Amino acid sequence: MAQQYDVIIIGSGPGGYVAGIRAGQLGLKVAVVERDPFFGGTCLHRGCIPTKALLHTATVLEEIREAGELGIGVGAPELDLGKAQERKQSVVDKNARGIAGLFKKYKVDGIQGTGRIAGAGKVEVTHEGETTPYETKNILIATGSLPREIPIAKVDGERIINSDHILKIGRVPQTLAVLGAGAVGTEFASMFASFGSKVTVIEMLDRLLPVEDAEVSKEIERAFRKRGIQSMTGTKLAGVETTEGGVKLSFDGSDKTVEAEVLLVAVGRGPYTEGLGLESVGIETERGFIATDGMMRTSAEGVYAIGDVVAAPPWLAHKASAEGIVAVEHMAGHETRPIDYTKVPSVVFTTPEVGSVGLSEQAAREAGYDVAVGKFPFTALGKAAIEGKTAGFVKIVRDTKYDEVLGVHIVGLHATDLIAEACAALQLEATAEELFRAVHAHPTLAEAMAEAAHASHGSAIHF
Ligand code: FAD
Repeated sequence: MAQQYDVIIIGSGPGGYVAGIRAGQLGLKVAVVERDPFFGGTCLHRGCIPTKALLHTATVLEEIREAGELGIGVGAPELDLGKAQERKQSVVDKNARGIAGLFKKYKVDGIQGTGRIAGAGKVEVTHEGETTPYETKNILIATGSLPREIPIAKVDGERIINSDHILKIGRVPQTLAVLGAGAVGTEFASMFASFGSKVTVIEMLDRLLPVEDAEVSKEIERAFRKRGIQSMTGTKLAGVETTEGGVKLSFDGSDKTVEAEVLLVAVGRGPYTEGLGLESVGIETERGFIATDGMMRTSAEGVYAIGDVVAAPPWLAHKASAEGIVAVEHMAGHETRPIDYTKVPSVVFTTPEVGSVGLSEQAAREAGYDVAVGKFPFTALGKAAIEGKTAGFVKIVRDTKYDEVLGVHIVGLHATDLIAEACAALQLEATAEELFRAVHAHPTLAEAMAEAAHASHGSAIHF
């Protein structure tokens, strides 16, 4: 007889593995199926963690270059990319062992193989040519996403590469063209500029990080320009020619060409559902992504879906994990709450970093709010001056009727950490006054949050 579970989770990324642990905590009999030989998914093996480990190398490299300003005499630093890659891998491996340990602790069965839904309550797992059937009360799809491809820039893994390839690259290209200025494209642009590549970013829309507040995009473009990163926005790729030294790019409506040793294609990601058997239970999709309700249920009875594979943005690791918790709590009959997607933060680990949550100024105006904006630049903040990193600002968007904070947009040092206070503020429906009346320690970068809240009332102290 096939082995029976309360829930079988297909995919072990930050959606699937977190859901597995929570299911174990709630006493569900749970299995997580993973086709890779390790747990952790894109985020741990090809996304968040390896990029941030390499970006840390890039940050330290820049810090050493600037050490002279702090009165520390060091020679010009030299990058050993091989060593940096080894360290990155050791960070990844340590985290993967951590997940395996947590599975053991919470009695989550890890099953290696490719999962397929074979009808209501049925999952088949194929590994090394053998297929094993399982039965389950619930199925949770957490299969994530894959890099999108475009026909005019077909990835060959050498000259034209995607994020999976660049994370394993063994050399720093002298010239790097990055197609797409979302989080993934801009992070690699920032990283390789620090490593010494001459970087050009090409974006079809009219600004870098097009989903962020327009002022954030402007600040990042300014910071990139200062660092020698060229931004070509409003530019549509027309063709890619391979040359002896790499690629030559041409663009719609322009005579300009860009030559680069390597082209990184970072034009987004698409849902990973091929061969998953969605049709066997009649799961509805929207542009290929799985449609879900607030409890992460799909249109098929007993089948839930979370993370990058579902239609609800943002496609980020913390959203996947939060959805995983909701899904299994709902299955277990535990009290839970649907995700408020307007309060999910977005983070970009460029230099300077970006952290944002809630409505942009433009979106707040379009939604009909009577908007007040407060902006505080890091140039006016003691801690930023101490650290020697004064680029960027905190911008608060609030409504004038109730003073409610609608959105917070940060560019600058540690913006990805600083945004957490704003997330709590939005979750608690805090007012801008509550934010500035909360006493912030001095001297800290977090003071910029209180100052921006003050600024939205026309009363910033230090600016
Ligand atoms: P995934 O992490 O994609 O995991 C899905 C898993 O399912 C994979 O392991 C896959 O092998 C497995 N799978 C698929 N099909 C099957 C099957 N049929 N059977 C068995 N297993 C299967 N997000 C952030 O929040 N912060 C960041 O800093 C960040 N940086 C990123 C950097 C890069 C370069 C990239 C590419 C992404 C980054 N992301 C970041 C996005 C983040 O990685 C994803 O949002 C997140 O991994 C989605 O989690 P998931 O659980 O939905 O899917």
